[in-house]
Amino acid sequence: MASQTGAIVQQSLNALMGDSSFLPNLQDQAREQAFKSLGSILSTPNKVHKAFLRITLDNGSVVRIPAYRIQHNDTLGPYKGGIRFHESVNEEEVTNLAALMTLKNALHEVPFGGGKGGVVISPRNYSSKELYTICKKYVQYFSDVIGPDKDIPAPDMGTGEREMDWMMSEYKSITPGFPYLGSFTGKSVINGGSLGRREATGKGVYYTFRYMLHDFLKSQSGWLAGSSNPYVQTALGHADRQLSIAVQGFGNVGSVASLEAYKCSYLHNKVVAVSDRNVTLYNPDGLSIPTLIEYTARNRGDLPGTEEALAELDIKAEILGREEVLYLNADVLILAALEEQIRGDNVERVKARILVEGANAPITGEADEVLTKRGTIIIPDILANAGGVIVSYFEWLQGRETQFFTEEHVYTMLFEKMQKTLNSILPAYFGDSYSLRENCYNHAVMKLSTVLYKQGKLY
Ligand code: GLU
Repeated sequence: MASQTGAIVQQSLNALMGDSSFLPNLQDQAREQAFKSLGSILSTPNKVHKAFLRITLDNGSVVRIPAYRIQHNDTLGPYKGGIRFHESVNEEEVTNLAALMTLKNALHEVPFGGGKGGVVISPRNYSSKELYTICKKYVQYFSDVIGPDKDIPAPDMGTGEREMDWMMSEYKSITPGFPYLGSFTGKSVINGGSLGRREATGKGVYYTFRYMLHDFLKSQSGWLAGSSNPYVQTALGHADRQLSIAVQGFGNVGSVASLEAYKCSYLHNKVVAVSDRNVTLYNPDGLSIPTLIEYTARNRGDLPGTEEALAELDIKAEILGREEVLYLNADVLILAALEEQIRGDNVERVKARILVEGANAPITGEADEVLTKRGTIIIPDILANAGGVIVSYFEWLQGRETQFFTEEHVYTMLFEKMQKTLNSILPAYFGDSYSLRENCYNHAVMKLSTVLYKQGKLY
């Protein structure tokens, strides 16, 4: 497991070991031994599958493309997690992302373990026929280890409904006569996907922020008002006033989170900046998100990057470099692009006091420490961006029953689930000195440890 996740898991285990009310039957040497075992179980993936997909390109040449499926932990259910298509995919990164899935599912009580896949390609450089072949080959090479009750992949960066439809269809051909709807989630609705799955991560990201900074704070204002906790001070300083929001990334997560913020009239927040792989667009008076979404749909996902394109859309915005979104004068920064965006070398330039991790692992451990010391509120990935996997779980359930939910029902269930998690985490967060990330890890590690102990896995 890569350093940051592993280090925080270990920190959680150390805290739990010192808490005698947790697993009280384990004492003295047996306790020490059991926590050591938990450390090694949770810090290592169960299985690492690597393949070199043999792909015939459109020009007739045959290439080998490295691909992974890493199964971190299945204590709580079948492995579950996306497949990423990106040129920076590597074993360490996929392992870390798989571990985050284990923790995310444990935290939100989703009955799955954690896994992740990746293919080392830049999808923009491949034709759709080549991508189709890559998807089919991925399923062929990993068909032994995936399946509705073994390991259920889903979309991640660089993949979406189209890829999941292709993969599910290949899985169906390889395993005739077996149930296949639950083999992949994030499929198109016509192929057995769930209504609301595409929007689920972005909606969940905004919901988490809104519930925490608005609904929860309001309902708890009595006891919070007297608190000297630095996070409480930051939170209360941002409650009940119009907030400016900057969003890094305008893909499936960033665009939906931006739209939710734009539409959320009762908070009157303003989305002052959005960015993509080319530019940042900035207007302190707010941007018209629906116009930008419509534009990106017509332009391969790219934001308008020239004065002419903006003028045609009647959008007033400054065009800045793509990284500038991180350093603007905004109250809230939603990170919905890649990992490691805020690091030791640029953390000092970040002005926002509330950071929301829409992407997985966008803040390094070093930067996290600096920000936390400053009293910055960081809403961590495993808490904020779980909407995708939660609705994947609903999709998997619907596929089993072949009974499909309405969109309204999906969102009601999604927000109920996220609210339940938030209510179990936030009182401790505002009441003690652990960061929100540490609180979430403690919660997830506690659940995993208890189940492992009760199943006799620590003998
Ligand atoms: N790739 C998404 C994540 O990182 C979704 C995973 C899923 O739906 O299984 O949470």
